[in-house]
Amino acid sequence: MKKIKDNLIEELESGNKEYSKKNKNIFKKFLKGQSPKIAILTCSDSRVIPEYIFNKSIGELFVIRVAGNIALDSTVIKSIEYGVDHLKVSHLIILGHTNCGAVKASEETNDEKDVLFNEIKESFILDPDNHFRANILRQLNMLPKRSKIINNKIKNKKLTLIGALYNLKDGQVDFFID
Ligand SMILES: [Zn+2]
Repeated sequence: MKKIKDNLIEELESGNKEYSKKNKNIFKKFLKGQSPKIAILTCSDSRVIPEYIFNKSIGELFVIRVAGNIALDSTVIKSIEYGVDHLKVSHLIILGHTNCGAVKASEETNDEKDVLFNEIKESFILDPDNHFRANILRQLNMLPKRSKIINNKIKNKKLTLIGALYNLKDGQVDFFID
């Protein structure tokens, strides 16, 4: 196959070279495996980067990113369960964010067949004044109902499930702690 390069790929290649050089001492440490303590379910939004937000590095966060940070289908739930059950993270954070496009689109759609938007819409009743927060609250409620593994870990006090809202305006995270 002929190799076709464009500017964006070249940009990625040079960025990757820098990354590889900068972190060369860290790779060896994680070659045999990973043991992050924290799993994060967050949005695919390019402005929401958990490793940057929490000042963490390679091997420290087990991250699942999906539009609207919802755990609805089995692949997303299985991914989280891998972190919880296999890697044995002690904390699972559902990290939503302000101005989330998936939440905003859900406010406008009337398409009843759209599973993603419907899932987010269901949450609005939980906080009618702040749908970004409401969306996180629903996932906090639903995740243990959708996953026996997660439910059991919480019951046995092996896992702390917590919500958090990232503010795009100032980069600050509010944890839902009562
Ligand atoms: Zn989003």
